[in-house]
Amino acid sequence: MEKFDFARLRFTGETELVRILEEDYALASYYDIFDNKDELENITNHMLANTVKLNKVIAPRLYKLCGEIQEFFGFREAIDFYLYAITEVNAFSINGFGIVPHIICFTSSLIQQLSDDELRFVIGHEIGHLIYKHSQLDVVNKILANRENEEIPAALAIYFLRWQRYAEVTCDRIGYLAMPDIKTIGTVFFKFASGLDEKYLNFDIDEYLKQLDKIREIAVGDFYSTHPNNLVRLQDLIYFSQSVLMPGNKSGKAISEKTLNKRMLELMNLLEIHPKKEKDKRIVEFFASVGIYLAHASGTVTERVWKTLYDWLADYTTQPENYLAFKTYADIKRRMEAICRYYSRQHGGEKFEIFEKLTPPPPYGLNFWRQLCRRRRRKLPAAVLHRTGRCGMVPWRRYGRTLPVRSIRIAVAVFLICPMLFQYRLPAPSSALFEHHCI
Ligand SMILES: [Zn+2]
Repeated sequence: MEKFDFARLRFTGETELVRILEEDYALASYYDIFDNKDELENITNHMLANTVKLNKVIAPRLYKLCGEIQEFFGFREAIDFYLYAITEVNAFSINGFGIVPHIICFTSSLIQQLSDDELRFVIGHEIGHLIYKHSQLDVVNKILANRENEEIPAALAIYFLRWQRYAEVTCDRIGYLAMPDIKTIGTVFFKFASGLDEKYLNFDIDEYLKQLDKIREIAVGDFYSTHPNNLVRLQDLIYFSQSVLMPGNKSGKAISEKTLNKRMLELMNLLEIHPKKEKDKRIVEFFASVGIYLAHASGTVTERVWKTLYDWLADYTTQPENYLAFKTYADIKRRMEAICRYYSRQHGGEKFEIFEKLTPPPPYGLNFWRQLCRRRRRKLPAAVLHRTGRCGMVPWRRYGRTLPVRSIRIAVAVFLICPMLFQYRLPAPSSALFEHHCI
């Protein structure tokens, strides 16, 4: 029996995302077909040629430390530990998939700056990546990203980025098990953040974490980093250390799993991006409420419609699902009517920005589009011709904007259709639908 329940220790946010990626997106099927033997052998060759492989002769102290922690977790698969001469304070791991031994590499600056206890956390963290086989999804991500002429859907790209950060949080927990002392781990993050050791700076956890309050206040988000920032990671670990998941914390005072997850998600949500400008918030509200309303008009919100709306909102937020979740049908209707009323009172650019977004770009680039229009000039209505300096593009003089003809057609169509939609009473969707799409 395993000494630790690794499935339970895994951050539940990560467990859920892995399920979505592996099952809903069927990415687990790639595990059996991808072949990265050449790549792994190349990496191993590069490591052997350019770095120092640790062993009990060359680095007895470090090698013993690595072995001790591997033993502590009962991880029996072979790991080669390497030392890389670089000034960056860092470490990484690569899964060998049974083809080559797993790789864990430390930078020389990391070894220089960290004490043995601090290294325990880093080694534990890297072994965590191997335990949870994080390289598997990483490889699939790379395969999908490198496919020519095929873009990853926005939802999948967002899930991947979020999963990478959640995976780091999980591995921090494994690191914490190897070195269960917040002060020591805090020093590691402090050294990562400052690049300096205790000779130069006094490390105080509470003082350092005050920076997190400011991040909460600004709420800008930091979604495109593969790792959560050090403050979030440290605060995450403080919660974990006080929770029932930490072996030994059995007292009634420990944080329950439910509370721990709630707090962790609140922290991780600090990294998500949401529209900040009022104008962008309205665009998101428009696409979400009108989109879902129209989708329900046909009786069902299909997966395709859901993904299209998700893609549109992904230009403004990394959590489109939050904006596509409505409590009741009446809520959808009320918000859709309110935002349409808002735009119907607008005379300026905001309304036309929406229409522009609804118009797909010309299929073969703008030049082709213009040439095509030039050829068709005679076929355009006289009124349009009269106002066009350039064929097909109507200078919207009153607002100082230039609009494609197609936008105006759509605008007219929407204005004609919208009043009919307001009057038409739609059947309320089934509750099962809401269970599926509301969060
Ligand atoms: Zn990591």
